[in-house]
Amino acid sequence: MRVLVTGGAGYIGSHTLLELMAQGHEVCVFDNYSNATPDVLTRVRSLSNGVIHDYVGDVRDSDKLDEVLQDFQPDAVIHFAGLKAVGESAEKPLYYYDVNVSGTLTLLRAMARAGCKKLIFSSSATVYGEPEYLPYDEAHPTNPTSVYGRTKLMAESILSDWAAAGDDRTAVLLRYFNPVGAHASAQIGEDPKDVPNNLMPFIAQVAVGKRDVLQVFGEDYDTPDGTGLRDYIHVVDLARAHVAAIDYAANAHGARAFNIGTGLSYSVRDMVSAFEKASGQQIPTKTVPRRAGDIAVMQADASRAKAELDWEATHGLDDMAASTWAWQSQNPDGYEQR
Ligand code: NAD
Ligand code: UDP
Repeated sequence: MRVLVTGGAGYIGSHTLLELMAQGHEVCVFDNYSNATPDVLTRVRSLSNGVIHDYVGDVRDSDKLDEVLQDFQPDAVIHFAGLKAVGESAEKPLYYYDVNVSGTLTLLRAMARAGCKKLIFSSSATVYGEPEYLPYDEAHPTNPTSVYGRTKLMAESILSDWAAAGDDRTAVLLRYFNPVGAHASAQIGEDPKDVPNNLMPFIAQVAVGKRDVLQVFGEDYDTPDGTGLRDYIHVVDLARAHVAAIDYAANAHGARAFNIGTGLSYSVRDMVSAFEKASGQQIPTKTVPRRAGDIAVMQADASRAKAELDWEATHGLDDMAASTWAWQSQNPDGYEQR
């Protein structure tokens, strides 16, 4: 299939390009590089030896989207482009609604003009909010606790309504749990521009000597070691879930949500231990108060994805830590030239 990948130069998008090309799909990237560098595509191209069409543009720019859709004529779109920092979303709510919600609307309108009717959407487990039961299944009530989460839920609603309004439209809503890890080549990985918000890149930067100490946000949760539990998913498994979603979308109609996780959960302490083992480095930690808005436990019931997408995670915790370490230690400044 011909797949347009918005946000394709980003962390998850870049890994997905490789998996799509490995399965024979033709890809085109549309990215404004607000959180990525063109060097990513240079690396992806050299890893794949494949053709990647690419356009620089913003998902809120309908003229530019028309140009790309006209030129590339995709069969499906994977929509990664968006903003993802929970804290920043509270400071800049209108910016988040504009990019994540208006951007999705603008893209859908452009797809309609081009006759493209299949979209795979980057949603998040954060749409669920405080668990009423665990693990979360897709029927769990949605009640996001952040602006970011609400932008994702609104985009899901728009996509569901859009898909219901025509017989041949498909929206696959992938609710990611906690993506971590890097490609086995150590050539592509997560490269946060500022201080990392997320646990794994923060640990990696401590291990490589860029930061002194990991702050553990709360050790008084009702969990075995008192720290938060999360369902970490290797980015290559996550990338493969998008390929499975593309295959599914070829024959499915309407909107359908899928949890993309492993069904397992690990604590902050588990992640630190796994990283120390993988890197051979000590990770100094300091316990600080809980981070506002954090939930004690997030864990997926990923059985729907297995049954309907024929997808399940295959990478374990050691692989998540080892691949992150390989990426971070071989690229201590990320994509920046040293
Ligand atoms: P990322 O920031 O690495 O990738 C997003 C890409 O989109 C970047 O290349 C960025 O330059 C581009 N982009 C941003 N705004 C744009 C715009 N207006 N127009 C065009 N391009 C734009 O993030 P990621 O971790 O790869 O996440 C991809 C998607 O998955 C996002 O929508 C994010 O909300 C969602 N998601 C991520 C996580 C996570 O923890 N990484 C978890 C759940 C959901
Ligand atoms: N966490 C932490 N220190 C950090 C970053 C995160 O202790 O510097 C904890 C956080 O409280 C949560 C887990 O690690 O329990 C995962 O947090 P992350 O921000 O990676 O993901 P999310 O909050 O989106 O689940």
